Amino acid sequence: MGHGWVWSKVGAVHGARGGDAVACAGGIHSHRYRLHPPADSSYERCVGLTWCSNCREYAGAMVFVPRDEHLPDLLAELPAAERERLARSELTMLDHLDRLVRRGLWPAGRGQA
Ligand SMILES: [Zn+2]
Repeated sequence: MGHGWVWSKVGAVHGARGGDAVACAGGIHSHRYRLHPPADSSYERCVGLTWCSNCREYAGAMVFVPRDEHLPDLLAELPAAERERLARSELTMLDHLDRLVRRGLWPAGRGQA
């Protein structure tokens, strides 16, 4: 098995909810995004991802986000085809989000130090 850049899916990143605590100093990032267009009845069913860039653990779950809550669109600058490709796969999305974090492009305001 390869390692290093492979994401491993866990119940809770760093065992944050008890259980196997991972000795890792990495910060936990999280992002929620919508899968469905506003006209869709499933619009409020979103994906919530949490992950650590350091040990590459991640957790993904279906989360409920009310219709009137605005979620930041981190894919806004991408072409439609690329957005669809990312939305289809948690792992592809993770790679993209993690790249934004590493470049200091997200979360906004980060990277002052
Ligand atoms: Zn970690």
